[in-house]
Amino acid sequence: MIRHRALEKVDTSVPVTVTTDRTLRIKVIDSCGMTCNFCHNEGTAVSVDNRRRSPGPYSGSGASGRVSIYAATNGARFLSAPILPTGEFQNCLDRLRESMGFNEVHLTGGEPTLHPRLPALITVTRQAGYRVSITSNGENGERVLTDCAKAGLGHINFSIFGTTPQELALVQHARFRTSGLASGKINALDRSIRLATDLGLESRANIVLPNRKHVDRVRRLLDKYTPALSVRVLSSLADGQESLDAIDQLINDLGAELESVGLIAGTSGFRMNYRLPGGRPLTVKHIRPTRLPVTCSGCRFNNSTDCEESYYGIRLYRDTSGTFQVGICIQRMDLCLPVEEFLGSDIREEVIRLRTTDHDHLTRSISPGVT
Ligand code: SF4
Repeated sequence: MIRHRALEKVDTSVPVTVTTDRTLRIKVIDSCGMTCNFCHNEGTAVSVDNRRRSPGPYSGSGASGRVSIYAATNGARFLSAPILPTGEFQNCLDRLRESMGFNEVHLTGGEPTLHPRLPALITVTRQAGYRVSITSNGENGERVLTDCAKAGLGHINFSIFGTTPQELALVQHARFRTSGLASGKINALDRSIRLATDLGLESRANIVLPNRKHVDRVRRLLDKYTPALSVRVLSSLADGQESLDAIDQLINDLGAELESVGLIAGTSGFRMNYRLPGGRPLTVKHIRPTRLPVTCSGCRFNNSTDCEESYYGIRLYRDTSGTFQVGICIQRMDLCLPVEEFLGSDIREEVIRLRTTDHDHLTRSISPGVT
């Protein structure tokens, strides 16, 4: 049976859907206008702070005030550079779609809306046959989202790091911890969210719930934005039980009813979909302890506390020499391989195999109600 506290509580009459991971995450730029003190920066070191250092170990913090929490320990051997909308990028997308069965791309950063050619990147990705979504902190959406929507952006996840200037300032580097700066960022986020919903983009607010003290933040979010913005609460692995208890409290306080569960074979993330008394949906995203059987077995982080994200899926980077690199874990960037090497490797086979075995395991473990 699947061992996960959230799943163990699922009423078997609730529909459970098992799909298969087909999403490729792509880091398109390293720049970001925020300095959040928990940022993993997709596993890469902050480029601007490390450009004069020779490859690894990189520093996890520097003069910019930004951090990359795994950079000093994850064995990264390259810094990331912006991805450009070139034929080479399109070729990469084609090769990865054909050999890995991806059909969706998720653009990340840094902050992807700071990429000056983001609409062109979306166009190339759409032409390569993918659906496209992005994760954004909202600081620059007002300038670029209209063109992104025209280029075919389908979905945007807004990361909410604070619902008030004081909350946001608390998680920024000390030098930038002023409520004036934080107000500016929150106002920009508000404008981006309004624009995205006006444009008809599927928009979602992602908010991490580390403990019970943060429960009111979610209430403020629900009050502040229209139901056109769906809200997704993320459990915090670093906070373990405290985070899961806070989610339980939120669900109880709101009187939310579990409607369905969405499991994704071949990746650790899964979703529990609730309905609030007024009819508004609320999603909670959890992490299952998923591992690549061979690669993870030799990993020094392979235990219930150090492996923080579990196996989450494939990421694509472009390094400063122009080589496209495939990553399988932000805590083990030493496992990154250039695209062609990855496609001929045992790890690629292992990723494909995991999707199948995990799908079989999930459909056998959770029934009836599985579709
Ligand atoms: S997912 Fe695998 S490779 Fe990554 S930290 Fe966990 S055990 Fe290690």
